[in-house]
Amino acid sequence: MTNDFLQKDRELFEDNYTCWWCGVSHANCGHHCMGRGSKNDDAESSILNYIPLNNFDCHINNGKLSWKQVKIQLLKKTWEYLKYKKQYQLKEKDKKFILKNKKYYVNICSNEVTKILEELKKPEKFKN
Ligand SMILES: [Zn+2]
Repeated sequence: MTNDFLQKDRELFEDNYTCWWCGVSHANCGHHCMGRGSKNDDAESSILNYIPLNNFDCHINNGKLSWKQVKIQLLKKTWEYLKYKKQYQLKEKDKKFILKNKKYYVNICSNEVTKILEELKKPEKFKN
């Protein structure tokens, strides 16, 4: 399917069973919080888009997963998990994903969003 998560990225969650929706230790799938996007853009395969959930109890038919405030909370949990528990370093794809979903990420990591925007403004030759 479009923008599946890479196996290597999924492994960042292999020792986590906590369901981001209810907090119970029963997560068994990775939900694409911001959808799967399109074939022409791989931003949605960013692991920042990965939300561990229990497929039957908390994922399927859970309409609240599409609420903006809920998405912010879920993306924030994944952000904090990757940053503080896994010391994850953002890849280009993740930066693309953050910029694409800026409206959400200003509520999650506004400093990072500013940093990425500044980076983009730098002329190519000054990039490291
Ligand atoms: Zn759950």
